[in-house]
Amino acid sequence: VKKNRGELEFHQAVKEVLESLKPVFEKSGTFEKQKVLERLVEPERQIIFRVPWVDDNGEIQVNRGFRVQFNSAIGPYKGGLRFHPSVYIGIIKFLGFEQIFKNSLTGLPMGGGKGGSDFNPKGKSDFEVMRFCQSFMTELYRHIGARVDVPAGDIGVGGREIGYLYGQYKKITQTFEGVLTGKGIEYGGSLVRPEATGYGATYFAEEMLKVKNETFKDKIVAISGSGNVAQYAIQKVNQLGGKVVTASDSSGYIYDPDGIIGEKYEFFLDLKQIQRGRIKEYADKFGVEYFANKRPWEHKVDIAMPCATQNEIDASDAQKLIDNGVIAVAEGANMPTTLEATNLFLEAGVAFAPGKAANAGGVATSGLEMAQNNQIIAWTREEVDNRLHNIMIGIHNASYQASKDYGKPGNYVLGANIAGFLKVAKAMMAQGHW
Ligand code: NDP
Repeated sequence: VKKNRGELEFHQAVKEVLESLKPVFEKSGTFEKQKVLERLVEPERQIIFRVPWVDDNGEIQVNRGFRVQFNSAIGPYKGGLRFHPSVYIGIIKFLGFEQIFKNSLTGLPMGGGKGGSDFNPKGKSDFEVMRFCQSFMTELYRHIGARVDVPAGDIGVGGREIGYLYGQYKKITQTFEGVLTGKGIEYGGSLVRPEATGYGATYFAEEMLKVKNETFKDKIVAISGSGNVAQYAIQKVNQLGGKVVTASDSSGYIYDPDGIIGEKYEFFLDLKQIQRGRIKEYADKFGVEYFANKRPWEHKVDIAMPCATQNEIDASDAQKLIDNGVIAVAEGANMPTTLEATNLFLEAGVAFAPGKAANAGGVATSGLEMAQNNQIIAWTREEVDNRLHNIMIGIHNASYQASKDYGKPGNYVLGANIAGFLKVAKAMMAQGHW
């Protein structure tokens, strides 16, 4: 804590993992002797840099850029870039730390990293976003590479931003390589990458429901967010016969008891992807309720999928969901549930999927994009979706098995942390002390 002063989100993420790993350390002294934990919580490298750019009024703006290369024991650093005014080193380190275990769980050879900037793309023109991305990459390019570090998108970094970043990387380095994932389909992107995190979280939830002899059919689902992850979680839940009654953004949420489906879903997708509008416009268009400055956890639902941001379900939200009979919670976002709230779900016997397992479909499909780029081939939609589905089933089963092996069957927090950790720890020890 002293060494990483003020990095609250990083402390929270590390605390959760360390608590889960207690049984592993009790079973074997090897990890302790090899100082695996001390090495694991210290990033291999942290890069912080200046990002100057010129806005549409000709004014110079200065933002701060980050790339934390956390752990490369099992593969090149891999993890997204987040552009959001709240970004500081504590957020990037929490995300990078989580990424190590998540990437390990996918079964693909990818290390953990994360980056971003306190730049706010909201309200900026396309040209402003382009100039910012070009300036950001003018520094970042020297630290990354297809076999070194492969960034992707996250909050505030979608297809548009990845395109501008990739263009600049190529201009500087003269190489067309899979250095970023989430690329457009015309220049090396993978089919199903945009859908992957939302689909993957839903596939994971489906597996948890199976353990309870349940399915999505006719289940009422609360989803938060209305960005990339939320959009495709809603689509997949609809396909599996569930009914999604909420969606949100940072201004509030809508409640549609008949479900965000059919024509209404098409409107929602266009509103968010093309018009870049606010979720309130959905309520205005279809005459459903809109709750300003509130979170969507106060209705009777069977399943909750937080897909917006960190710490968006606190203890009182969790209690409301439990009182209303929720049976499963799957985190589409990273660390959306506070530690207190997580413990409430676990104590109440709610099937709870932590983000590092449930939202790993995004980075897994990024791994599949890297595989396609390396071979200069493109798989069909079915091929990628099947692989994604199998990877999510594999993550579920590995997490469930580890939870059983360590005496807490069905505790996916413990299971995912342990399963993710063991592989990285063994790889670190095999490669010597550095
Ligand atoms: P987007 O930027 O596409 O969407 C983010 C959504 O969350 C928006 O609806 C946004 O609303 C809302 N949001 C952001 N900040 C806040 C806040 N402080 N309070 C309330 N709502 C907020 O991001 P993604 O959908 O890509 O990412 C969502 C989450 O999923 C993040 O935690 C991300 O790290 C995680 N994730 C994403 C992956 C991916 O493949 N995209 C992979 C794995 C995890 P508004 O428009 O008002 O800001």
